[in-house]
Amino acid sequence: MTDSAEAPSVRLRPEILATAPYRQGRPAPAESFKLSSNENPFDPLPEIVDAIAAAAVNRYPDAAATALSERLATRFGVERGNVHVGSGSVSILAQLIQAAAGPGDEALYSWRSFEAYPGLVTVAGASSVAVPNLPDQRHDLPAMAAAVTDRTRVAIVCTPNNPTGTIVTAEEFAAFMAAVPSDLLVLLDEAYVEFVTDPAAVDGRDLIGRYPNLVVLRTFSKAFGLAGLRVGYAVGPERILDAARATAIPLSVTEPAQRAAIAALDHEEALLQRVAVITRRRDEVLGAVLAQGLAVPRSQANFLWLATGADTSEANDILLAHGIVARALLPDGIRVSIGEAESVAGLLAATEELAERFP
Ligand code: PMP
Repeated sequence: MTDSAEAPSVRLRPEILATAPYRQGRPAPAESFKLSSNENPFDPLPEIVDAIAAAAVNRYPDAAATALSERLATRFGVERGNVHVGSGSVSILAQLIQAAAGPGDEALYSWRSFEAYPGLVTVAGASSVAVPNLPDQRHDLPAMAAAVTDRTRVAIVCTPNNPTGTIVTAEEFAAFMAAVPSDLLVLLDEAYVEFVTDPAAVDGRDLIGRYPNLVVLRTFSKAFGLAGLRVGYAVGPERILDAARATAIPLSVTEPAQRAAIAALDHEEALLQRVAVITRRRDEVLGAVLAQGLAVPRSQANFLWLATGADTSEANDILLAHGIVARALLPDGIRVSIGEAESVAGLLAATEELAERFP
């Protein structure tokens, strides 16, 4: 269908016209490793495949995801109303941002952080206030707290931070919560929390019920290996989650997704053993890359951040030449996931070349 030159254009919101759709990394050619989306490299457990196969697809799903919400509520020691399930935690982020911030309001986050935040804020009609990360790539929480104005309606803290892998400590987060107004909605985005091994890191689970303005967001996409099914959840005050539910597109969490998430919780121990394999691999790769001389932040997630700056495109080509499809995040650097054991040799050969070419 072509646009007619004569007909007046349909009036669309200018800020939407100026917004690019969310982009994934480039498709991985054969014989390469797709390390561009922080996915779990393991195939699903057979029990999870069985749970998906048993889901009825001619019926609509349970809109309230009752069974899964109950399981999560028990796990976190809260009521069912304190849990909200969405089609990926990104959809819950969208719901909560829309519920709290509209035209004239501000949404605050650190940058670089998760690529989706700016677009979600724009769609809500609000304005982004992005506070630069510290030189060591960690969130600058005091600067974020100082950036709160009387128009700030939501602040997002991402730990471990995508794409830098850096964490916020429990102490830093407590100081942030004490510094911001208690009527400011704070979202603790913990998409990668299961990969954290540093005991100093904040853990949203310890904070449930402690703050009236805090919502913790988690996902089944990463550690639990269900990225393709789209299921994530939030834990927090019921009134705030009711507002998220009010903005949700009805019935968007499918029955296979709900059932697979329950099966994943049933087999959590086996899945967390796989997570331990990934975190060990991360630490080995990180150690090797640091020994090669690259200044990589000490990631606590399932990816590493290469701050290649102006050399990002060239560096990305070097990774590709070694069979590694990573995510170039212009103009700052490249994020590369920790994937299959077989991907490590190519990744380290590529980083060796990067260390030589861009010392
Ligand atoms: N938060 C962060 C920091 C992420 O990196 C991602 C996925 N890339 C998400 C949230 C969303 O994950 P999902 O929608 O798959 O739950």
